[in-house]
Amino acid sequence: MLRRWVVSFINPSHTNRTFHTSKLLRTAQIIDGKKIAGDILNEVKQSVESWVQAGNRRPKLVAILVGHNPASKTYVSNKVKAAKSVGIDSETILCSTDITQVSLVERIQSYNTDPSIDGILVQLPLPKGLDEKKICHSISPSKDVDGFHSENIGNLSSDKSGIIPATALGVRELIVRTKIDTFGKNAVVIGRSKHVGLPIALLLHADGNGETGALDMTTTICHRHTSHMDLQKFTLLADVLVAAAGVPGLITKEMVKPGACVIDVGITRVKDAQGKFKLTGDVDFNGVKEIAGFITPVPGGVGPMTVAILMKNTLFAAQHNPKRT
Ligand code: ADP
Repeated sequence: MLRRWVVSFINPSHTNRTFHTSKLLRTAQIIDGKKIAGDILNEVKQSVESWVQAGNRRPKLVAILVGHNPASKTYVSNKVKAAKSVGIDSETILCSTDITQVSLVERIQSYNTDPSIDGILVQLPLPKGLDEKKICHSISPSKDVDGFHSENIGNLSSDKSGIIPATALGVRELIVRTKIDTFGKNAVVIGRSKHVGLPIALLLHADGNGETGALDMTTTICHRHTSHMDLQKFTLLADVLVAAAGVPGLITKEMVKPGACVIDVGITRVKDAQGKFKLTGDVDFNGVKEIAGFITPVPGGVGPMTVAILMKNTLFAAQHNPKRT
């Protein structure tokens, strides 16, 4: 494992120049999610080109955006840009906020049966009145590139190959490509959401001999009902700590085992002193980087990975779409 050591010479008394104390400070290696996501996008681009050269149609992704949430618009536009960069065709479907559940599901069903479409995603969150669970479940599992359908979660739970939720697979790729030692080690995931925390925990704990590339870690899931004292007891045991709570600054350095790999999935828009919005993670980056061995920044850590893996999933869906034309 590569570690960066920073030697800093601290002079406790500026008046006595002969009395120098040297102190060894270790800072964490920053895991560059942008760079790793770029590597994955290059790999996907090459695979897409080979797939097309073998006589197949380009993969096609349909992104459904309901309403005018500015963050959702940005996410969808990033996904469309990424698709273009790897040679995947895409189409954005804009729906007004007052679309009914029935007509949204009907539209999704028409894309399910359209043989020229390989992947479908609905950008979350949806406006009030639309049932996210039902809508996500109306996407055909073979085109569900977000991997939220219970058939895909079921495959992941049973160590079977399938579409894995993009953020979870992104977290796995960050860990594996940084060559973190995971076999038999302890992992703690903070957050139990069905789209993020749970699939991450599934990938961390399961048998590496299965079809999902799981990491054989002893895995604990903490959530909003874990008392803060208990939370610290668990996090201090974690060789890999994944924070996916959406609570800015939840993880401080006292909660981190020295040398641990800390993956920050939280992305919250917080107003700074100047009234400007900035993206903030769940981890107190500056404090924790003094203790951890490895750490992801926000932004530039997990975020770009989710988009890159979505492209990987779209190619996977195209290659496993039985009715494509
Ligand atoms: P996401 O889908 O991004 O994971 P959610 O809001 O659906 O976001 O889920 C947040 C998760 O974080 C929940 O499982 C919740 O229990 C957990 N959580 C929220 N606050 C805390 C906290 N203070 N300590 C531990 N877990 C928390």
